[in-house]
Amino acid sequence: MGLTRTRVRVEGIVQGVGFRPFVHALAGRLGLAGLVGNDAGGVFVEVEGASETVERFLEALAAEAPPLAVIERVTATPLAPTGSSGFAIAPSQAGGERQALVSPDTATCADCLAELADPADRRHRYPFINCTNCGPRFTIVRDVPYDRPATTMASFAMCADCAREYHDPGDRRFHAQPVCCPACGPSLALLDRDGTAAEGDPLAGAAARLRDGAVVAVKGLGGYHLAADAASEPAVAGLRARKHREDKPFAVMVADVAGARALCRVDPAEEAMLASPRRPIVLLRRGPEGAGTAVAPSVAPGNRSLGVMLPYTPLHHLLLAEVGRPIVLTSGNVSDEPIAYLDGEAVERLGGIADWFLVHDRPIHVRADDSVVRAFRGRELPLRRSRGFAPQPLGLPWPFPRHVLACGAELKHTFCLAKDGHAFVSHHIGDLENYETFRSFTDGVGHFRRLFAVEPEVVAHDLHPEYLSTKYALELDGVELEGVQHHHAHVAACLADNGEPGPVIGVAYDGLGYGADGTIWGGELLVADLEGFRRAGHLEVVAMPGGAAAIREPWRMAAAWLGAAFGGQVPEHLAVVGRNLDRWEQVAALARSGTASVATSSAGRLFDAVSAILGVRDAVNYEGQAAVELEQLADPAEAAAYPARVGGATDDGAPLLVGGRDLVRAVVEDLDAGVPAPLIAARFHNGLAEATVAACQAIRDATGLEAVALSGGVFQNLLLLERTVARLELKGFRVLVHSRVPPNDAGISLGQAAVAGARARARPA
Ligand SMILES: [Zn+2]
Ligand SMILES: [Zn+2]
Repeated sequence: MGLTRTRVRVEGIVQGVGFRPFVHALAGRLGLAGLVGNDAGGVFVEVEGASETVERFLEALAAEAPPLAVIERVTATPLAPTGSSGFAIAPSQAGGERQALVSPDTATCADCLAELADPADRRHRYPFINCTNCGPRFTIVRDVPYDRPATTMASFAMCADCAREYHDPGDRRFHAQPVCCPACGPSLALLDRDGTAAEGDPLAGAAARLRDGAVVAVKGLGGYHLAADAASEPAVAGLRARKHREDKPFAVMVADVAGARALCRVDPAEEAMLASPRRPIVLLRRGPEGAGTAVAPSVAPGNRSLGVMLPYTPLHHLLLAEVGRPIVLTSGNVSDEPIAYLDGEAVERLGGIADWFLVHDRPIHVRADDSVVRAFRGRELPLRRSRGFAPQPLGLPWPFPRHVLACGAELKHTFCLAKDGHAFVSHHIGDLENYETFRSFTDGVGHFRRLFAVEPEVVAHDLHPEYLSTKYALELDGVELEGVQHHHAHVAACLADNGEPGPVIGVAYDGLGYGADGTIWGGELLVADLEGFRRAGHLEVVAMPGGAAAIREPWRMAAAWLGAAFGGQVPEHLAVVGRNLDRWEQVAALARSGTASVATSSAGRLFDAVSAILGVRDAVNYEGQAAVELEQLADPAEAAAYPARVGGATDDGAPLLVGGRDLVRAVVEDLDAGVPAPLIAARFHNGLAEATVAACQAIRDATGLEAVALSGGVFQNLLLLERTVARLELKGFRVLVHSRVPPNDAGISLGQAAVAGARARARPA
């Protein structure tokens, strides 16, 4: 029997997830000697014993790893046996190259929930209960290696009982860095607007005030939320008015899956997303009939879906149980500001909105908004990838030869750092339009660089000269800059999301992005791989009369598209003309002449135009509102489609043109014929899907490409996505959609990083 000693290095998400106790128990079970420890590169192990036992150890290491561990690489190197006995846990080692991956924040596990509910347990009803399998991670980590002194728990000295659990390799809290209890850990307080603590149990007090209709700011995992009784129209309408948020739907937290079913239809895929340890907000279809009355109309006005999430911290579990019904839980901010996460700042900023503050003394180091997903064909379609997901790296099948920072775009901003085969897409930063979000971005880049030991040599950025992310990139010294066209980045994000290099036919439909020719693009058909692209087609171009004003006022896009579709004979009897008569002629003239306007091929703006023509919305209160409401209006049972020409030729190099004017003319004809608006909205969706497929067929004929990647914010529209995918598949295309990063601009940073990596591989330094 040969005695061997092997050094094993385990890389991936292996710290803070109970990996060392797992290794300790495994070695004990197999009777192996050695040691295990954390260092900046992950987990290191030395095992000594019979060679076949060491083999079994290595197999079990990957097969039986703890639930939150993500093993990316295991390397084994032989050592000389030392004859040692016993298995030890070595102290953490600082220094060295930092590659250990910090885990995302994780919802309270079943074991902790059982203790939370057990009157005999010393953590009965303790709002900060956690263990190696659950609890805060990313939002409390200040530095690596991931150990208590490097977290915001550093100031809470463990009591003797917690210390015993923490140091016992057989305990399920062994080296759980945030471990604590009522005797030694954080505690709750309920404050009024002046910061004065209320008498009595803070949790019961907050719940009672919520039931009475108050707005309560609740300190959560990644920031403050604003909570209100979801069943109370005065409470929710009051919250809306104080927050200056007119129409954008609020999310609701329910106690459990049964609570979600009381409000919405939940299929098995959606149930899995709701109950996953990431606990995102899941957009669900409201119903069944008669239900939906349990939430006040102001929660999600006129919306067929509802954002629902389950409790993800012990505090949320206790609060929901105490309130006894669903609560609205929305980001703690005023209109477009980032979510508040610092205690003093929260009371100051939210004082005009919240009546009470349910706070605690565990600091939040990184702000992280709730993630938002919906189900598409049983898979997760992320709309916002943040708390619970970040900073888990996305594994890519291609190495990055040099470290990359991708600065992202502007709206729904994220950034991305990349090295080796990992892309670290940041949490949701917000709309990069003010100083505060810009600070979040630059602070976030610094934090990610430290955590993941990335020293950017290549910096990728959008081509839009006015984006703050572009300006930031252009001011960096000593790095190689890589400009990436916006829609190419969308298509590359979809490729990277699917782990494919292309080339593909990329369909990128969004609001707008800076084109390679200096005009504003947004309805693009690209022949693209990761390295480059050719603009093979696009939606017909119209003016955006008044520039950015046309984004806020979709009726302006109606004026532009009607002018383009009907030339001099704009049908002036249309209601949209009548509603905007005082400025119609002036705006139509801007569109005709191009004065004070920019030319755009944007698909999002075409949706805006149709939305206004149908009387859905002339002006918006949030980005994408007109298109969202047009999707809501459309009758999903309608199969007819408006015909639209796809013109131009690919052989002379001129891009194909997708006939938006045909779609607009058909909308007006049906409107004049008295066809109900839900049918018109559906036929428009179907028509755009068919025209897109026809364009893809023409490009396939010219190039032989069989795969289509769908990206851009317009493909958050499930009706358009479903119709387009179904028609593409019917024509024999292989279709790539998003499942790891959002199709909207939050995915741009991953696309930029993938492009920069591909170019670096093609042109070695
Ligand atoms: Zn737990
Ligand atoms: Zn304790």
